[in-house]
Amino acid sequence: MSKPLVVITGASSGIGAAMAQAFSNEGHPLLLLARRVDRLESLSLPNTLCRQVDVTDRDAIAAAVAEAEAKYGNVDLFINNAGCMLLGGLDTQDPNEWQRMFDVNVMGVLNGTHAVLPAMKARKGGTILNVSSIAGRKTFPAHAAYCGTKFAVHAMSENLREEVADDNVRVIVIAPGAVETELLSHTTSDEIKANYEGWKEQMGGVISPDDIARTALFAYQQPQNLCIREIVVAATRQQ
Ligand code: NDP
Repeated sequence: MSKPLVVITGASSGIGAAMAQAFSNEGHPLLLLARRVDRLESLSLPNTLCRQVDVTDRDAIAAAVAEAEAKYGNVDLFINNAGCMLLGGLDTQDPNEWQRMFDVNVMGVLNGTHAVLPAMKARKGGTILNVSSIAGRKTFPAHAAYCGTKFAVHAMSENLREEVADDNVRVIVIAPGAVETELLSHTTSDEIKANYEGWKEQMGGVISPDDIARTALFAYQQPQNLCIREIVVAATRQQ
C-alpha cells in the first residue's frame, strides 16, 4: 500500500533535511517547504514537491498543501520544523531579531497547523509534529527571546493536543538538545557564538540531525491510537 503524504517545513538544511531523507526512505511522498528552494531540490528525493514558501505566509503554505494533496492525496503528517535562533541579551539585541523569531518559530507553527487541521479533524486522523527545543523546557544564557518562542511551542502543542484528541488527531512535540546544524550561524554576536561552541566542545560534541529524524520516525510510526506527546532528546553529556 502506498504511504501517505508528509509535509516538512524548513527542510532545506539540518534537521528538516534529515527528516526529509528519512521519511522518503520509508516510501512517503513529500511536500518540502523553505525559502531556499534550490537546497530542497538538491536533496533529489523521489515523489517530492519542493516549494519556496516562507512559513510566515499563511496563504503560501495553504496553496502548496493544496497542490501537493492534488498530486499525492491527503496530508497525514505535518512537521512544523522551520525555525531560527538569534541569541542575544534583551538589553543589547536588535528587537527585529525577537520579532523574526516569534514570526517564524511561533506564528509559523500556527500557520502550518492551520493549513491542515480542518481536514485532519474532518477525516478523524492525522498527526501534527512540532519541533521545539530543550530551550522550550529550560532556560539558557542569552536565550530569553528564543526560549520564549519555544516555551510557546510546548504550550500551543499541549493545548492543541487536548482540543483534537477526540478527533483522533495526534500532536507530538520533539524537543532536541544541541544538534549540529546551521542554526547557530544566524546569531549575530561573535562572543555568544564562541561561548556556545565552547559549551558544545565541553560536552564532547552534540547529536546529529539524523538522530532527530530517527526520533521523529519512531514517534510517527506508532499506531494512530498511541500518541507520544513529547520527546526530549539530547547528547548524554548535555546538562
Ligand atoms: P537550520 O538553520 O539548519 O535549519 C532551519 C530551517 O528552517 C532551514 O531549512 C530554513 O530554511 C528554515 N527556515 C527558517 N526561516 C524560515 C522561514 N521564514 N520560512 C520557511 N523556512 C524557514 O537549523 P536546525 O535544523 O537546527 O533547525 C530546525 C528546527 O530545530 C528549528 O525549529 C530549531 O529551533 C530546532 N532546534 C534546533 C536545535 C539545534 O541545536 N540545532 C536544538 C533544538 C531545536 P530557509 O533558510 O531555506 O528558509
